[in-house]
This record gives sequence, structure tokens and C-alpha cells, in this order.
Amino acid sequence: MVIRSVRPGHAPNCSSAGSVVGLALVSVVVASALLNTWAERFGRFTRDGSPAPPKLRRDREGSVARWPDPPALLGLDAAATAAALAMGAEVVGTGVSAPNEVHVAVTAQCPVRCDGCYLDAGPDRAHADLEALEADLVRLAAMGVFEVALGGGEAPERADRVAAVARSLGLTPNLTTSGFGVTAARAARMAALYGQVNVSLDGLDGYVATRGWDGRKLAVTAIDRLVAAGVRVGVNTVLGRAVLPELEGFAGVLAEHGVREWQWLRYKPAGRATEDYLRRRAEPADLDRLWPRLLAIEAATGLTMRIDCAMVPFLAPHLSDPSVLARFGVVGCTGGETLLARTATGAWAPCSFAGAGAPGEPAAIWADDPMLEAWRGRAARPPEPCASCPVQSVCRGGCRIVAGHLTGDPLAPDPECPRVRG
Ligand code: SF4
Ligand code: SF4
Repeated sequence: MVIRSVRPGHAPNCSSAGSVVGLALVSVVVASALLNTWAERFGRFTRDGSPAPPKLRRDREGSVARWPDPPALLGLDAAATAAALAMGAEVVGTGVSAPNEVHVAVTAQCPVRCDGCYLDAGPDRAHADLEALEADLVRLAAMGVFEVALGGGEAPERADRVAAVARSLGLTPNLTTSGFGVTAARAARMAALYGQVNVSLDGLDGYVATRGWDGRKLAVTAIDRLVAAGVRVGVNTVLGRAVLPELEGFAGVLAEHGVREWQWLRYKPAGRATEDYLRRRAEPADLDRLWPRLLAIEAATGLTMRIDCAMVPFLAPHLSDPSVLARFGVVGCTGGETLLARTATGAWAPCSFAGAGAPGEPAAIWADDPMLEAWRGRAARPPEPCASCPVQSVCRGGCRIVAGHLTGDPLAPDPECPRVRG
């Protein structure tokens, strides 16, 4: 009976599939100890049924299970799947492949117009049609999706309404926000509604240079109210070049405010972030050097560090055993593989940066959409230098959005990856 993989936590990020890094990078021994902890937890469940049974969706090797407490996504082999079913685990989905999480733009409207908004949101943009969106949530639940990451735009009441519908359908809703509308009263309601809320805070010194307006107080006040209300809070920071010098001091401030997770996201050329991309992005050579800093920050602050899918190529030179990372859910481009995105207009795409996608029923899109198929084919049959890369199975070829913007071909090798740069 084997737990094939463990991805601890929720998938809170509306703009990427989050990956936990931290201790798994330090040593295989520590990673093995963590896997043993999960094996013991699972063994206890098979003996006495506690905590509550997970939901699971069958796959070729057994199943993917949504573990309730502490939250995690487990890959189970056939024997572990049978043991979980014997203890009352609930099977979701139809027995065919489905995404684990879906990123949902509840609106493209926003009171501000951040310089680098990947969605090109603003005051004059439209909300998503809520009836159509809620009908799609029903379809996603029927497919066996586990979590939805809500984002946009900013529309607090709409987000909470969508989250309530998602929760009633058995989906775990998570939210990303810049902090708009997080009153103390709403924060108290959000504690029961969301699995996790991530507040976007793109630096303290670097915020204005990155976003073009000053939303620091808004974000920090939201963090304080959410923490006080008992919400599981993370912070998203997009690694534009302006924030890189202050990461250590910034981490200390986040820890003082009770933040539990800090997620670093690569600056990606989508929406308004295509403008001036080369000037605003962190230099690839600077991203190469981030990992010792990440580990030192984790050790000094106790923050759980996460990276987004697009950061994985910069991990490559630091990996001693890529298979260990894969067992902890540290994976690169999962667009179309375990991840689907719904735009504010109701179209579907392999990830939330991929722009206008195709309209339709999500199960049919997941099964047949040409863009999703092309992305899957790219991961399965990569060109060089990805094909011979020792971490291809973890990285999955880098970011399609960066590749598309810089080379004109989203299926090309990620030109910012250190191995591709040569
Ligand atoms: S060469 Fe390709 S697979 Fe290897 S790290 Fe770079 S982008 Fe990822
Ligand atoms: S293209 Fe892939 S790596 Fe880039 S943001 Fe989308 S899912 Fe992540």
C-alpha cells in the first residue's frame, strides 16, 4: 500500500499551480521523513477512520485523494485506494481524467489598473455571468475537480457568492485578492467559506514600482483581518525586478503579521504585463540565484515557501533528486494536465495566463480541446534541450506563456530557463 505523492496544503493561487518547496529541497532524508508521516497518517485512517474520509478520484494507478485535515492532495496506489474505499472514502468524478483544480476569473472588473495585470482588468471591464459560471461549477464538481481558485479582477460579493456555491457542491474554494472589501465582518465569514485566501502583495519597497499604485496598506490590513478571523492566509508575490532586493526583510514582516505561506510567482508576459516585460521582469540570472535565499528565509521565519509552476526551471540546477520533488507535488507546467482555467467570459484555457480560450462544456474541453492537447503533447514529447533534461519530468518544459511571448511559439523551450540559455 503506497502513497505515490503528497502535495500539502490547498491550491490557493488563481494564477498558477502552487508548489511547496522548502524542506524537500534540503535532503532526501527529510523528505522521506515527511512521506513517512503521511504514511502513518494514512495508516491510522485505515485502522480507525480518522480524520474524516477523503474524497478520491480514480486514475490509472489508483486514485488522487483530497485529504481533509491537514489539507493535502495524495496520489494513492491501487491497494491504498481500496483501503480508503473500505473506510468510506467518497468517489468523485466519472472515472475519466479531470483537472485537480480549476482557476476561475469571477470578474475582469477591478477598481484599479495595475501595470502588470495579467488579466488586463480595470474599472471598465465586465463581470463573469454568474448563472453561467455557477452552472459550470456543477459540471466541474461532476467531473471530480477538487478545488477552484477564484480570482480576477476584484468583486468581493461575487467571489463570496461563487465560493458558497462551490462549497455546496463539495468543491474547496480558494481566493486571491489584493485586499479589496476585506472588512472584519467579511473576514469572519470568509473563515468558513474559503480553504485559503492569498493576498497579493508585490513587495513593500517595490510595490509601487511593480503595480503603479500604492496598495500596501490595503493588503496588509486585509492580512491582519484575515489572520485575526482565523482564515488560512498566504501571500502571493510576483517577482518583478523591483522586489528582489527586499525579500529577506519582507519575509520578516509577513511572519510578524501571522502569514503562514509565501508564494513566489514568476512575472509572466500576459495581459498588461506584456507591455515593458523585459524591463519589469526579474533578470533570469537573478532568478537562478534565488534558491539559497528561499531556504534561508524559510529557516529564519518558519514561513512555508511555495513557488509557482513557472519558477520550476530555475530550481533545476539545485536539484539532487528530482523524483523527490515530484513526490511532493513540486511540478512545473501543469496547464491542461491537472489544471484548467475559466476566463471571465466563460471560455476555457490550459492555464489562466493563456488568454482567450475555447467556449464549451468543461468535460468536452478537457477531453478534446486542441490547445490542451498541444500542451499535453509538448510535455510528453518535448524538444531539446528539454528532451534530455534530467528534470523534465518535474519541470515539464518551462512556461508556455514566456515561451510564446519571447519566441512566438508557446511550445518552444522556455527561453529564460538556465539550461535553454546555455
Ligand atoms: S531544459 Fe526544459 S525541462 Fe529542463 S529545466 Fe529547462 S525548461 Fe525545464
Ligand atoms: S504556461 Fe504552464 S508554467 Fe506557465 S503559468 Fe501556465 S501552467 Fe504555469
